[in-house]
Amino acid sequence: MEIGKKLFTTRKIQSKVKELAQRISSDYEGKEIFAVGVLKGAAIFFADLIRAITVPLTFDFIIASSYKKMETTGYVNIYGDLREDITGKHVLLVEDIIDTGLTLKFLREKLIERNPQSLRTCVFLDKKERRIVDVPIDYTGFEIPDKYVVGYGLDCESKFRNLPYIAFLEP
Ligand code: 5GP
Repeated sequence: MEIGKKLFTTRKIQSKVKELAQRISSDYEGKEIFAVGVLKGAAIFFADLIRAITVPLTFDFIIASSYKKMETTGYVNIYGDLREDITGKHVLLVEDIIDTGLTLKFLREKLIERNPQSLRTCVFLDKKERRIVDVPIDYTGFEIPDKYVVGYGLDCESKFRNLPYIAFLEP
């Protein structure tokens, strides 16, 4: 597999991150955010996003991965859980990409069980046409077509996460 056509340049990514952070900062005015990043994919986006948010913020990570071969069951494995209690907090769950929606639906349900004061979701990329379950998304970076993308945290067999842009993958 090789890196194909560029979908979003670094400049375009940075301006979208800034826009999302401004919306989030304004929506959470007077509140404190507890941001939860989903590793590994969201690591890069998460680091950029939280640094551009201007309201008080603390964060933690959750390490999760979905079994693609068992897509329809929605089985998601949590390899590493939050270390902090989220009870009564304004939680912002941050993911790199939403595809079928199964991963985010599963994670939302897991976090809601822990009684946060509020829970919102932020995804950088949305493959809307692939959705098979309904998940509320509060903040979306870009809607993209149903094609595999890499870069800016997104991988293919663990590679390409460090690309500073987002590109399609070509066979
Ligand atoms: P979902 O559970 O919504 O079907 O899938 C979400 C997960 O699938 C993402 O966190 C990501 O790991 C993976 N994924 C879906 N589409 C892509 C893609 O185009 N590129 C990469 N690198 N991962 C993807």
